[in-house]
Order: sequence, then structure tokens, then C-alpha cells
Amino acid sequence: MADECIFCKIVNGEIPSEKVHEDDHVLAFKDIDPQAPVHIIIIPKKHHQSIMTVPAGEPIIAQMLEAANRIALKMGIADSGFRLVTNVGEDGGQTVPHLHFHLLGGRAMQWPPG
Ligand code: AMP
Ligand code: ZN
Repeated sequence: MADECIFCKIVNGEIPSEKVHEDDHVLAFKDIDPQAPVHIIIIPKKHHQSIMTVPAGEPIIAQMLEAANRIALKMGIADSGFRLVTNVGEDGGQTVPHLHFHLLGGRAMQWPPG
């Protein structure tokens, strides 16, 4: 765990969350400030700052993608479609420095993003 990381605190239960999926490596919960009818945050339980800091050969990205597919099915957005996004760094708009995917659905998304 990284000190003062809010997503690590969600993993260890210090900060409550509305969980929608949990397995040995991945946790997913509802975003506190949803930008779509379905807005889920998918994180590795182990702290990584972003996709840029995951060591080569680590299976966590595949595990997170597999969880995203399952959650999309569970939340009923697999057929209508969804967006899966990971923001990296300042220009990417990353505000929480713990790797996460945003799973967004339940409405038509715009392109290009802002
Ligand atoms: P990003 O800006 O890509 O780093 O995304 C961080 C996301 O985490 C934002 O969409 C926030 O609304 C969300 N968030 C921050 N704190 C919490 C929390 N305690 N519980 C759920 N989602 C959170
Ligand atoms: Zn963390």
C-alpha cells in the first residue's frame, strides 16, 4: 500500500466504497462522482501508479480487462456498449495516482473526449 493513496485505503477498507466486483487481484466500485448512468472504477489491489509503472510480464492488466468484461455483463451494458478509459498523468487528467480503469455506460458517449 502507498501511504495516503485513497484507492489503497478503499482496498484495505479504511474508506468505504460501493463494490460491484472483487477477486484476488482486482476490486471494482462505483465512482463517487458518476459521469454516466454506469460509472465503475476498476483497480488492482496492489498499488501501481498507472499503466506506465506496471512491470513487463505482470498479468494485472489482463486481469483488470477480464474483470471489466464481467462487470459490463453484470451491469447490463455489454450489448448497448460502453467505454473503458485509463487516464495517465497530468495531461491525461489522472487525479488519483493508483492505476484504474473507468468503465462508463448507460448512455451514448461523445467522441472526441474533452
Ligand atoms: P482520474 O481522474 O482518472 O484519476 O479518476 C479518479 C476517479 O476516482 C474520479 O472519477 C473520482 O470521481 C473517483 N473517486 C475519487 N475518490 C473516490 C472514492 N472515494 N470513491 C469512489 N470514487 C472515487
Ligand atoms: Zn494505491
